[in-house]
Amino acid sequence: MLTLVLYGVLVVLAVTTAIVVVRTILFQRSQQAAKKIEGVPVDAQKVAEHLAAAVRCQTVPLDETGTPDPEAFRQLHQMLAETYPLVHRHLQRDVVNGYSLLYTWPGTQPDLEPVMLMAHQDVVSADPEAWTHPPFEGKIVDGFVWGRGTLDIKNQLIGIMEAAEALLGQGYQPQRTLLFGMGHDEETGGVNGCRVMGLLLKERGIHLAGIVDEGGGISAGLAPGVRGEVALVGVSEKGYLTVEFTVQSQPGHSSTPPPQTAIGILARALARLEAHPLPTHLRRLRPLYHGIGRAVPLYLQVAFANIWLFGPLLKRWLVGIPEMNASIRTTTALTIVRGGVEDNTVPPEAKAIVNFRLLPGDTIADVLRYAARVIDDERVTFEPVPGKFNEALPISPSQGPAYEGLRMVIRQVFDNPPVAPFVMLGGTDCQHFVPVCDHIYRFTSLVMDESFRGLEHGIDERIPVDGMARMVTFYGHLMQAWGAPAMSIAPFAGDK
Ligand SMILES: [Zn+2]
Repeated sequence: MLTLVLYGVLVVLAVTTAIVVVRTILFQRSQQAAKKIEGVPVDAQKVAEHLAAAVRCQTVPLDETGTPDPEAFRQLHQMLAETYPLVHRHLQRDVVNGYSLLYTWPGTQPDLEPVMLMAHQDVVSADPEAWTHPPFEGKIVDGFVWGRGTLDIKNQLIGIMEAAEALLGQGYQPQRTLLFGMGHDEETGGVNGCRVMGLLLKERGIHLAGIVDEGGGISAGLAPGVRGEVALVGVSEKGYLTVEFTVQSQPGHSSTPPPQTAIGILARALARLEAHPLPTHLRRLRPLYHGIGRAVPLYLQVAFANIWLFGPLLKRWLVGIPEMNASIRTTTALTIVRGGVEDNTVPPEAKAIVNFRLLPGDTIADVLRYAARVIDDERVTFEPVPGKFNEALPISPSQGPAYEGLRMVIRQVFDNPPVAPFVMLGGTDCQHFVPVCDHIYRFTSLVMDESFRGLEHGIDERIPVDGMARMVTFYGHLMQAWGAPAMSIAPFAGDK
């Protein structure tokens, strides 16, 4: 009998081990080295000066709704026209809704679906007092271009223009039509810029084969457990949902209070929401580790290949890392609470605002149902705040010509880092093109180390001159790759 049990245990162990090993082998994705190809000519100093000139145009919104400053945009548009004469001679330029720019570089094969490269012209404000070099003077000091927008994202605006001008100078003509979409109000949601541009493309009957907008970059430490640099391409964006919770109760004097006031009832509801976050899912993180492939340490490869077995362990590790926690679940953040004005009065009402960020796969309706179940108290009413919610965006495929072409270009330009897909935690302008494109990728072609932390929207925003030059090379490669019918220029060395 004992030998039979022992035999059974051994069989189960052997089968489990076999499954784990086979799944791990299937999980591994090799990323072969990309062949280097000739890039567009880049004069790093000139490019830096052009970026500095763009920084001097203070395209900061005049108010919270994103009202543009006409003079700043006039300056920027004039600067672009003067600096990039070939682009402005050969490309069609549409001004969309007054300030956004849509450039069309017609391909020689008009039957191919166009692609679009994006950047936004607006920047957030900056307090000059706090900066080492003034935020809008475009200083080039110590190998950096300093100023607001040098990372977010006049760098991409200039990178795209610079690469197109250089390619035109070489007589290059794309086979596939290239569009450049430059919104003017991304920082305030893009409703007047790229949303209108998206509608315009739809109206023109244009469907895009691919989009690259700002997003993930190249950095070490992006995937916990993985050493070395990784390039992350955003394939989706989390959704957004702000909910207002309200409790009303009998007002009165605090000398004779009811057992529970509106504040107490609301507080209990909020505490329950925080104590019961939405469930975690590894489904959005697995492709990231899968994409990184062999650069992932073996124990993590084994774990991610066998979520059926190691899922609970992985989750326990990941929820302790804030960025990872946000990557595997819809997050819950209590952000505003209001109730009561007098110390001796029981208030008639208490209100709170909770901000959820939706993991693709969770819908707004799911989250509202979940909140109702967790709170389980009919005295608490709640509803989404108008204009403050959108579903998570569809997930663009991390395979196929558009993704593979982009992946190859990243590896050609940046010394072959592993390239992997991820879900962006914040939103960008490209959300407005979901109706006209199924292959939307968010990638900023810049190697960023610790020293970049907090610079975007922060103090002393700056970009290395050589990093900016490499961005031009990246766009030059990408235009040639995506401008080709196959969406790539040179096959991977050794890839079929
Ligand atoms: Zn931006």
